[in-house]
Amino acid sequence: MSGESTVAIGLLLPDVLGTYSDAGNATILAQRLRWRGIAAEIRTITARDVPPTGCAVYLLGGGEDTAQLFAADWLRRHDQLRRTLETSAVTLAVCAGLQILGRSMTDSKGKHYPGLGLLDISTAPGRQRAVGEVIASCAVPGVGSLTGFENHRGVTTLGPDIAPLGRVVTGTGNGTREGGRHRGEGVLTERIIGTYLHGPVLARNPALADHILQQATGQILPALELPDQAALRQTYLRGHAVSG
Ligand code: GLN
Repeated sequence: MSGESTVAIGLLLPDVLGTYSDAGNATILAQRLRWRGIAAEIRTITARDVPPTGCAVYLLGGGEDTAQLFAADWLRRHDQLRRTLETSAVTLAVCAGLQILGRSMTDSKGKHYPGLGLLDISTAPGRQRAVGEVIASCAVPGVGSLTGFENHRGVTTLGPDIAPLGRVVTGTGNGTREGGRHRGEGVLTERIIGTYLHGPVLARNPALADHILQQATGQILPALELPDQAALRQTYLRGHAVSG
């Protein structure tokens, strides 16, 4: 049972989109709230469940192409949840999770599938798979460098009015250039943070976790001093002449 002030975090379809351990993002969000004395509850929502629509934050992870199409159908069937993602909650969507929120997805045989249409993006397979470490400079003020690893073939094209989450420093990210210039990583809207980064991304980038929590709760959260985490970040950023 959750009280009025408990922040509910909806972990969507970890049984379908759980290949890359992105469920860890839920743990990070809940723990960062609890460390600040704010009650948090993770609601795990599997494909068998009727999804609750009252969560402040929803999380979608990455997975294989077939799992991704199943997840897109499942989300389409739950229209109330779709409306919640569109109008009231904050959503973090990783890789396949990001792709299914867009307008369309194309598979390796060239077949097109509709996405949820919450984001003006479309995804089609690239020439080769993008696998490895990524560093991107994040467009959210104060977040700095994002680190994570990517493992995808999808190349995501953004519509003219949608901004990327960051600019790629090393790695592939969306696989497209914004305005033909900077290589983009993910997408950033008021309600949806989309990224190609696994890790889980919020374990590697706590400032991004706090941005999501602030968007979801409407509160300015006090800083957390976690030396171990700062040291871990430096191990990922070292060698790329990028600071945290
Ligand atoms: N199947 C998608 C792709 O290869 C998503 C992969 C993932 O979620 N890591 O683009």
